[in-house]
Amino acid sequence: MLSVSNLEVVYEDVILVLRGVSLEVPDGQIVGLLGANGAGKTTLLRALSGLLDIHHGKVTRGRITLDGERIDHLDPQQIVARGISQVLEGRRVFAEFTVEENLRVGAHTKPNDRAKNLERVFELFPRLLERRTQTAGYLSGGEQQMLAIARILRTGAKLLLLDEPTEGLAPVIVQQIGRTIREIKARGFTVLLVEQNFRFAQTVADRHYVMEHGRVVDMVPNSELSASMGRLHEYLGV
Ligand code: ATP
Repeated sequence: MLSVSNLEVVYEDVILVLRGVSLEVPDGQIVGLLGANGAGKTTLLRALSGLLDIHHGKVTRGRITLDGERIDHLDPQQIVARGISQVLEGRRVFAEFTVEENLRVGAHTKPNDRAKNLERVFELFPRLLERRTQTAGYLSGGEQQMLAIARILRTGAKLLLLDEPTEGLAPVIVQQIGRTIREIKARGFTVLLVEQNFRFAQTVADRHYVMEHGRVVDMVPNSELSASMGRLHEYLGV
Protein backbone atom coordinates (compact mmCIF):
# COMPACT_ATOMS: atom_id res chain seq x y z
CA MET A 1 0.00 0.00 0.00
CA LEU A 2 1.08 3.53 -0.78
CA SER A 3 0.55 5.85 2.12
CA VAL A 4 0.94 9.63 2.30
CA SER A 5 0.88 11.18 5.70
CA ASN A 6 0.69 14.86 6.55
CA LEU A 7 2.77 15.80 3.51
CA GLU A 8 3.94 19.36 3.12
CA VAL A 9 5.65 20.57 -0.08
CA VAL A 10 7.30 23.92 -0.69
CA TYR A 11 8.54 25.35 -4.02
CA GLU A 12 11.51 27.72 -4.23
CA ASP A 13 11.88 27.42 -0.42
CA VAL A 14 8.93 29.77 0.16
CA ILE A 15 5.81 28.77 -1.78
CA LEU A 16 3.83 26.36 0.41
CA VAL A 17 1.66 24.27 -1.92
CA LEU A 18 0.83 21.02 -0.10
CA ARG A 19 -0.34 21.77 3.43
CA GLY A 20 -0.51 18.41 5.12
CA VAL A 21 -1.89 15.88 2.62
CA SER A 22 -2.81 12.40 3.85
CA LEU A 23 -4.21 9.58 1.73
CA GLU A 24 -3.90 5.87 1.07
CA VAL A 25 -3.75 3.89 -2.16
CA PRO A 26 -4.41 0.19 -1.38
CA ASP A 27 -2.87 -2.44 -3.66
CA GLY A 28 -5.03 -3.40 -6.60
CA GLN A 29 -7.35 -0.42 -6.31
CA ILE A 30 -7.95 2.61 -8.48
CA VAL A 31 -7.94 5.77 -6.43
CA GLY A 32 -9.16 9.04 -7.94
CA LEU A 33 -7.66 12.37 -6.97
CA LEU A 34 -10.05 15.19 -7.80
CA GLY A 35 -9.64 18.92 -7.40
CA ALA A 36 -9.81 22.25 -9.19
CA ASN A 37 -6.87 23.82 -11.06
CA GLY A 38 -4.07 24.68 -8.68
CA ALA A 39 -5.31 22.42 -5.84
CA GLY A 40 -1.93 20.65 -5.77
CA LYS A 41 -2.70 17.34 -7.53
CA THR A 42 0.27 17.45 -9.90
CA THR A 43 2.53 18.52 -7.04
CA LEU A 44 1.47 15.44 -5.07
CA LEU A 45 2.28 13.21 -8.06
CA ARG A 46 5.69 14.88 -8.39
CA ALA A 47 6.37 14.16 -4.73
CA LEU A 48 5.36 10.51 -5.23
CA SER A 49 7.56 10.02 -8.28
CA GLY A 50 10.56 11.94 -6.92
CA LEU A 51 10.27 14.72 -9.50
CA LEU A 52 10.00 17.68 -7.11
CA ASP A 53 13.69 18.53 -7.33
CA ILE A 54 13.62 19.45 -10.99
CA HIS A 55 10.71 21.81 -10.25
CA HIS A 56 12.61 23.40 -7.34
CA GLY A 57 10.25 21.86 -4.83
CA LYS A 58 10.84 19.78 -1.72
CA VAL A 59 9.04 17.83 0.96
CA THR A 60 9.35 19.84 4.17
CA ARG A 61 7.15 17.72 6.45
CA GLY A 62 5.34 14.40 6.52
CA ARG A 63 6.16 11.13 4.84
CA ILE A 64 5.43 8.84 1.91
CA THR A 65 5.68 5.10 2.45
CA LEU A 66 5.33 2.10 0.16
CA ASP A 67 4.51 -1.10 2.07
CA GLY A 68 5.81 0.59 5.21
CA GLU A 69 9.14 1.71 3.74
CA ARG A 70 9.82 5.43 3.42
CA ILE A 71 10.31 6.54 -0.17
CA ASP A 72 10.12 10.34 0.10
CA HIS A 73 13.90 10.76 0.06
CA LEU A 74 14.48 8.54 -3.00
CA ASP A 75 15.40 9.75 -6.48
CA PRO A 76 13.14 9.06 -9.50
CA GLN A 77 15.12 6.00 -10.66
CA GLN A 78 14.92 4.39 -7.22
CA ILE A 79 11.18 5.05 -7.12
CA VAL A 80 10.70 3.50 -10.59
CA ALA A 81 12.73 0.52 -9.38
CA ARG A 82 10.17 0.09 -6.57
CA GLY A 83 7.41 -0.15 -9.15
CA ILE A 84 5.95 3.38 -9.12
CA SER A 85 5.76 5.17 -12.49
CA GLN A 86 4.05 8.28 -13.69
CA VAL A 87 2.40 9.20 -16.98
CA LEU A 88 2.81 12.95 -17.12
CA GLU A 89 0.06 15.35 -18.08
CA GLY A 90 -0.25 15.50 -21.86
CA ARG A 91 0.97 12.54 -23.88
CA ARG A 92 4.67 11.99 -23.51
CA VAL A 93 5.74 9.74 -26.36
CA PHE A 94 8.68 9.95 -28.74
CA ALA A 95 6.80 11.32 -31.76
CA GLU A 96 9.41 10.37 -34.33
CA PHE A 97 9.81 6.77 -33.13
CA THR A 98 7.52 3.89 -34.06
CA VAL A 99 5.13 2.41 -31.52
CA GLU A 100 7.41 -0.55 -30.97
CA GLU A 101 10.52 1.63 -30.61
CA ASN A 102 8.68 3.70 -28.01
CA LEU A 103 7.98 0.51 -26.10
CA ARG A 104 11.56 -0.69 -26.35
CA VAL A 105 13.08 2.56 -25.08
CA GLY A 106 13.49 2.61 -21.33
CA ALA A 107 12.27 -0.94 -20.68
CA HIS A 108 13.88 -1.87 -17.37
CA THR A 109 13.10 -5.55 -17.58
CA LYS A 110 15.85 -8.13 -17.84
CA PRO A 111 16.89 -8.77 -21.47
CA ASN A 112 15.35 -12.29 -21.39
CA ASP A 113 12.00 -10.96 -20.17
CA ARG A 114 11.75 -8.22 -22.73
CA ALA A 115 10.00 -10.02 -25.57
CA LYS A 116 7.55 -11.66 -23.16
CA ASN A 117 6.81 -8.43 -21.43
CA LEU A 118 6.31 -6.62 -24.75
CA GLU A 119 3.85 -9.29 -25.90
CA ARG A 120 1.95 -8.88 -22.62
CA VAL A 121 1.71 -5.16 -23.16
CA PHE A 122 0.39 -5.75 -26.69
CA GLU A 123 -2.24 -8.14 -25.26
CA LEU A 124 -3.48 -5.30 -23.12
CA PHE A 125 -3.38 -2.82 -26.01
CA PRO A 126 -4.35 -4.69 -29.21
CA ARG A 127 -4.66 -1.35 -30.97
CA LEU A 128 -0.95 -0.71 -30.39
CA LEU A 129 -0.13 -4.13 -31.79
CA GLU A 130 -1.97 -3.17 -35.00
CA ARG A 131 0.03 0.06 -35.11
CA ARG A 132 3.32 -1.51 -34.05
CA THR A 133 5.36 -0.14 -36.98
CA GLN A 134 3.62 3.22 -37.25
CA THR A 135 5.29 6.49 -36.23
CA ALA A 136 3.95 7.51 -32.82
CA GLY A 137 3.48 11.14 -33.83
CA TYR A 138 0.79 10.06 -36.30
CA LEU A 139 -1.29 8.14 -33.76
CA SER A 140 -4.59 9.59 -32.59
CA GLY A 141 -4.68 11.35 -29.20
CA GLY A 142 -6.24 8.31 -27.52
CA GLU A 143 -3.71 5.94 -29.04
CA GLN A 144 -0.85 8.18 -27.88
CA GLN A 145 -2.31 8.16 -24.36
CA MET A 146 -2.45 4.36 -24.48
CA LEU A 147 1.13 4.26 -25.72
CA ALA A 148 2.18 6.52 -22.84
CA ILE A 149 0.50 4.12 -20.38
CA ALA A 150 1.97 1.08 -22.13
CA ARG A 151 5.44 2.63 -21.87
CA ILE A 152 5.28 2.89 -18.12
CA LEU A 153 4.02 -0.68 -17.82
CA ARG A 154 7.23 -1.63 -19.60
CA THR A 155 9.26 -0.09 -16.77
CA GLY A 156 7.92 -2.87 -14.55
CA ALA A 157 5.50 -0.50 -12.81
CA LYS A 158 2.93 -1.94 -10.42
CA LEU A 159 1.55 1.39 -9.26
CA LEU A 160 0.66 3.82 -12.04
CA LEU A 161 0.30 7.53 -11.48
CA LEU A 162 -1.89 8.98 -14.24
CA ASP A 163 -2.19 12.75 -14.61
CA GLU A 164 -5.43 13.64 -16.40
CA PRO A 165 -5.28 10.91 -19.05
CA THR A 166 -8.56 12.00 -20.67
CA GLU A 167 -7.73 15.67 -21.05
CA GLY A 168 -8.63 16.94 -24.50
CA LEU A 169 -9.91 13.57 -25.76
CA ALA A 170 -13.23 12.92 -27.51
CA PRO A 171 -15.90 11.07 -25.45
CA VAL A 172 -15.55 7.82 -27.41
CA ILE A 173 -11.79 7.80 -26.77
CA VAL A 174 -12.36 8.61 -23.11
CA GLN A 175 -14.49 5.44 -22.93
CA GLN A 176 -11.62 3.45 -24.47
CA ILE A 177 -9.17 4.83 -21.91
CA GLY A 178 -11.67 3.88 -19.19
CA ARG A 179 -11.81 0.29 -20.47
CA THR A 180 -8.02 0.16 -20.55
CA ILE A 181 -7.72 1.40 -16.97
CA ARG A 182 -10.29 -1.17 -15.76
CA GLU A 183 -8.38 -3.88 -17.63
CA ILE A 184 -5.13 -2.74 -15.98
CA LYS A 185 -6.85 -3.08 -12.60
CA ALA A 186 -8.17 -6.54 -13.49
CA ARG A 187 -4.55 -7.58 -14.08
CA GLY A 188 -3.59 -6.57 -10.57
CA PHE A 189 -2.12 -3.12 -11.11
CA THR A 190 -2.80 -0.19 -8.80
CA VAL A 191 -3.64 3.27 -10.13
CA LEU A 192 -3.68 6.76 -8.66
CA LEU A 193 -5.66 8.80 -11.15
CA VAL A 194 -5.64 12.60 -11.17
CA GLU A 195 -8.79 13.86 -12.87
CA GLN A 196 -10.87 16.98 -13.20
CA ASN A 197 -13.49 14.96 -15.07
CA PHE A 198 -15.15 13.26 -12.12
CA ARG A 199 -17.79 11.59 -14.28
CA PHE A 200 -14.92 9.71 -15.91
CA ALA A 201 -13.25 9.03 -12.56
CA GLN A 202 -16.55 7.54 -11.39
CA THR A 203 -16.42 4.91 -14.16
CA VAL A 204 -13.08 3.54 -13.01
CA ALA A 205 -12.16 4.42 -9.42
CA ASP A 206 -12.91 2.61 -6.14
CA ARG A 207 -12.62 5.73 -4.03
CA HIS A 208 -11.92 9.41 -4.55
CA TYR A 209 -9.95 11.95 -2.60
CA VAL A 210 -10.80 15.60 -3.13
CA MET A 211 -8.08 18.23 -2.87
CA GLU A 212 -8.57 21.92 -2.28
CA HIS A 213 -5.85 24.52 -1.65
CA GLY A 214 -3.16 21.95 -0.93
CA ARG A 215 -5.22 19.79 1.40
CA VAL A 216 -7.34 16.66 1.12
CA VAL A 217 -10.78 17.88 2.15
CA ASP A 218 -12.88 14.81 1.44
CA MET A 219 -12.77 11.07 0.74
CA VAL A 220 -15.72 9.58 -1.10
CA PRO A 221 -16.20 5.85 -1.85
CA ASN A 222 -17.24 5.44 -5.48
CA SER A 223 -20.64 4.06 -4.45
CA GLU A 224 -21.39 7.41 -2.78
CA LEU A 225 -20.05 9.64 -5.52
CA SER A 226 -23.40 10.24 -7.25
CA ALA A 227 -25.00 11.31 -3.97
CA SER A 228 -22.05 13.66 -3.34
CA MET A 229 -22.13 15.41 -6.72
CA GLY A 230 -23.46 18.68 -5.30
CA ARG A 231 -20.63 18.88 -2.78
CA LEU A 232 -18.06 17.96 -5.44
CA HIS A 233 -19.31 20.65 -7.78
CA GLU A 234 -18.66 23.17 -5.03
CA TYR A 235 -15.11 21.91 -4.42
CA LEU A 236 -14.32 21.95 -8.10
CA GLY A 237 -15.97 25.30 -8.67
CA VAL A 238 -18.10 24.07 -11.58
P1 ATP B 1 -3.76 21.72 -12.53
O1 ATP B 1 -4.92 20.82 -12.68
O2 ATP B 1 -4.03 23.12 -12.99
O3 ATP B 1 -2.47 21.15 -13.03
P2 ATP B 1 -3.02 20.97 -9.84
O4 ATP B 1 -4.07 20.65 -8.85
O5 ATP B 1 -2.33 19.84 -10.49
O6 ATP B 1 -3.61 21.93 -10.93
P3 ATP B 1 -0.40 21.97 -9.18
O7 ATP B 1 0.02 21.96 -10.62
O8 ATP B 1 0.15 21.00 -8.26
O9 ATP B 1 -2.00 21.90 -9.10
O10 ATP B 1 -0.15 23.44 -8.64
C1 ATP B 1 -0.47 23.81 -7.29
C2 ATP B 1 0.09 25.21 -7.04
O11 ATP B 1 1.52 25.14 -7.06
C3 ATP B 1 -0.31 26.24 -8.08
O12 ATP B 1 -0.62 27.44 -7.41
C4 ATP B 1 0.92 26.39 -8.93
O13 ATP B 1 1.02 27.70 -9.44
C5 ATP B 1 2.04 26.12 -7.93
N1 ATP B 1 3.23 25.56 -8.58
C6 ATP B 1 3.30 24.45 -9.33
N2 ATP B 1 4.57 24.22 -9.74
C7 ATP B 1 5.32 25.22 -9.23
C8 ATP B 1 6.71 25.55 -9.30
N3 ATP B 1 7.59 24.78 -9.95
N4 ATP B 1 7.12 26.66 -8.65
C9 ATP B 1 6.24 27.43 -7.97
N5 ATP B 1 4.93 27.17 -7.86
C10 ATP B 1 4.46 26.09 -8.49
